[in-house]
Amino acid sequence: MEKICVAVRVRPPICHENSSSTFWGVDDNQISLHKLHGSPISGVSYTFDHVFDENFSNSDIYELLTKDIIHAAVDGFNGTAFAYGQTSSGKTFTMNGSSNDPGIIHRAVNDIFQKINMISDREFLIRVSYMEIYNEEINDLFAVENQKLQIHENLERGIFVAGLREEIVNNAEQVMKLLESGEVNRHFGETNMNARSSRSHTIFRVVIESKGKDTGSFGDYSSSDAIRVSVLNLVDLAGSERIAKTGTGGVRLKEGKYINKSLMVLGNVINKLSDSAKRRAHIPYRDSKLTRILQPALGGNAKTSIICTVAPEEIHIEETKGTLLFASRAKRVTNCAQVNEVLTDAALLKRQKLEIEELRWKLQGSHAEVLEQEILKLRNDMLKYELEREKLEMELEKERRSHKERDQYIRDQLMMIENLSSLVSDGDGSSSQGSMKESPTEECHNRGDDFKTPCFKAAPKAFVAKRSNYSQLPDFSPLPDSFSDVADEDTWFKINKGYIADLDSLQTTPARKVQSFPPEDVTPNYLNKKYKKELQNLKRRLELVTEEKNELQRKLAEDIEVKDRLKGDISKLKQEALLAREVPQRLCGSVTSFKDTYEEVLSKMQRYTFDGKSSTAKLLRCISEIGSILFSTMETSISNTTDRHKLSSENDSLIQEYNKMLSEKLKSTITSLILSETASSEDKQTKTPCSCNFEVVAWSRYHVSILVLFFVMILGYFVPFFRTLIF
Ligand code: ADP
Ligand code: MG
Repeated sequence: MEKICVAVRVRPPICHENSSSTFWGVDDNQISLHKLHGSPISGVSYTFDHVFDENFSNSDIYELLTKDIIHAAVDGFNGTAFAYGQTSSGKTFTMNGSSNDPGIIHRAVNDIFQKINMISDREFLIRVSYMEIYNEEINDLFAVENQKLQIHENLERGIFVAGLREEIVNNAEQVMKLLESGEVNRHFGETNMNARSSRSHTIFRVVIESKGKDTGSFGDYSSSDAIRVSVLNLVDLAGSERIAKTGTGGVRLKEGKYINKSLMVLGNVINKLSDSAKRRAHIPYRDSKLTRILQPALGGNAKTSIICTVAPEEIHIEETKGTLLFASRAKRVTNCAQVNEVLTDAALLKRQKLEIEELRWKLQGSHAEVLEQEILKLRNDMLKYELEREKLEMELEKERRSHKERDQYIRDQLMMIENLSSLVSDGDGSSSQGSMKESPTEECHNRGDDFKTPCFKAAPKAFVAKRSNYSQLPDFSPLPDSFSDVADEDTWFKINKGYIADLDSLQTTPARKVQSFPPEDVTPNYLNKKYKKELQNLKRRLELVTEEKNELQRKLAEDIEVKDRLKGDISKLKQEALLAREVPQRLCGSVTSFKDTYEEVLSKMQRYTFDGKSSTAKLLRCISEIGSILFSTMETSISNTTDRHKLSSENDSLIQEYNKMLSEKLKSTITSLILSETASSEDKQTKTPCSCNFEVVAWSRYHVSILVLFFVMILGYFVPFFRTLIF
C-alpha cells in the first residue's frame, strides 16, 4: 500500500496587485497564507509531498514528482499523473509546457523511449490514445469521427473506452506529431476554445507492453512467457472552480449550471477514499466518465501523483484554499500498485506475435530500419482491424440485447394471453362440467406445493430461468425445485439453444406475480369470473373499435366518390376554359370579314356618286373613315384580350385615342351633312324642279346618313360589349 503523491505548484503572479494584504508563502514542502509583512495565519497552512514555488520549472517538477511513475510504468506498473486546479492556475502549462520548458507529457514520452532503448533484454510495444471528456461525452482526439464513445468493462481488458483510436508508436517524434494533430482536432469547429478547455478534461494514455527477449534467436519467445501490460494516464483536468457551488460572486452563482459533473464526482471519490478504510462505503466511480476511466488510478492498482496548481493572487484566495483542501484529502488516499503480468491474449504483443514473426521471416535479410517500419505498419493495421471489430461487436451486442428484450416481451405477452385464454376455457369447462380438476391452482395444491404458482401450460417448457441472485427474496418467483418436469440447467440450456432467461433482468416479474399469483383468499371461481369479465370488456372494446373502423371505411368511400365527381367537373371546366380562350380569336376573324364586307359595300356605293366632290361622296368618305376607326378599335380590343401580356396602359390609351377620333369624325360628318343639306334645299328653291336623279341622290343621302348613324351606334354598342364578354 502506498499513498498518492501530492504536490502543489504556485504559478508566478500574472498581475502584481498593490493592495495585497496577504500572500502565499512556500517553505520547503509547506504552503501557508501569510499576512503582509507578518507571520503565517494559523489554520491556513498545508504540508504536501512537494510544494513548488514560482521558481521551479517543468523540468524540476518532472524529475521530483513524475519521473518515478514513468519509469515504474515502463517496468509494468500502472501510473497516473493529474493536474488539478482552477482555470489559469497553470495545469496546461505543467502538462504541456512551452517550447523552452516542455511539460510532463513531452518529458514522459521522451523518457519512456529513452528508457526502453536502454533495456536490451525486453521487447516493447507502445501504443497511445488521446481523449477529451466534455459535457460528460468522451471524444477521440485522434479521430474526430469517434464522438460520444462508451465505457465498457470486461474480464480481459478491464475498464476501457470502446472504439477509441490507438496508435502503435516507435519513437517520441511520432507521439509528438500525433499530439499536435489531437490538439488541432480539439480546436476543430470550436469558437470559444478557452471556455471549452477550462470545462473539459483531456486524458493522454500510453499503454506499455513488454516481454522478455529469449536468449535464442531474435524474436523467438517461449509461448508461456508473461507479458507486462501497464497503462499510463496523463490528465489535464477541467478548471476546479466549476465545482464551487457557493460563493459571494454573482458570476460563480451564474456558473452553477456549468458545474462539471466529472470533477464533482472526482471530489466525492477522493473524499470517500480519504475516509478511513472502515468507513469506506460505496465509492461512486460509476457516477462520472472521468472517475470510471481512472478508477484503477484512484484507490486501485496504480502509482498516482497529483499536481495541484494554484494562483498566488489575492483574488483567487478562496479557490486556492479549495484546491489545497482537495490536495490534503487526496494525500490520504492509498493505492496498491503491482506489476501487471498477463499470460492471456489480453496483451496485444501476444495477439500479434504470430503475424509479426511471419513478417520477420518473410523480410529476412532486409535492412533493420525497413523491417521495423514494416512491423510498425503491420501492427497498426492489425490494431485498427481489432478496434474496428471491437466496435462492431459492441454494436452487434447492443442490437442482440434489444432483440432479446423484444423477444422476451413478446413471449411474456403471449404467455399472458395463453394463460388468460386457458383460464377462461378452464372456467367454462368447470362451470359446465362442475369439475375443477383442470384448474392450475388445484393441480398445484394436489401436488402439495406450498406456494401458489399457477401451473401455466406453456410456462414450464417455454424457457429456463437462471437461478436468480434474488430468488430467496419473497418478491421474486422461487424456482420450483420439486417439479418433476423441470430439467436441470444444462438440459434446458441445450433444449433452448443456449438461451437462459436471467431472472434478475426480468423487470416484469413482480408485476406478473400480481396477475399470476392470486392471494390465498381468492377462489378459482372468482378468478374465472374476473377473467371472463375482463375478456368480455375486451370483446366489447373490440366491437366498438370494429364499428369505428367500419364507419371510417364508409366515410372514406364517400370521400372517394366526391373526389371522383369533382375530378369530372374540373375536367369539364378545363375544356370550357380552352374553348373560351378561342373566342377572341374567332371574334377577330369575324371582325376582319365584317370589315372586308363593309369596305366592299362602301367602295361600291362610292362608285355611284357622280364625282368625288359631291356631298354624298364626302359623306361616304366620312363613313368609310368612321368605319375603319371603329373596326380598328374593335381589333385592338380583341387582340388585347387574346394576349393578356399586351394589356397595358399604352393599348388602353390607343383605344381612347380611337374613341376621340371617332367622336370628332362623327361631329364633323354631322356638321358637313347639315351644311350640305341646307345648301341643297336652297338650290331646290332657286333652281328648276328636281329631276329624278337629284331625288335619288337626296334620298340616298338621307338614308345613307341614317344607316351610317345606326351602324355607328351598333358598333359603339358592341365594342364595350365585346370587351366585357372577353374579360
Ligand atoms: P490552466 O490550464 O490551469 O487554465 P494555463 O496553464 O493555461 O492554466 O496557465 C495560464 C497562464 O499562466 C498561461 O499563459 C501560462 O503560460 C501561464 N503560466 C502558468 N503557470 C506558469 C509557470 N509556472 N510559469 C510561467 N507561466 C505560467
Ligand atoms: Mg488548461
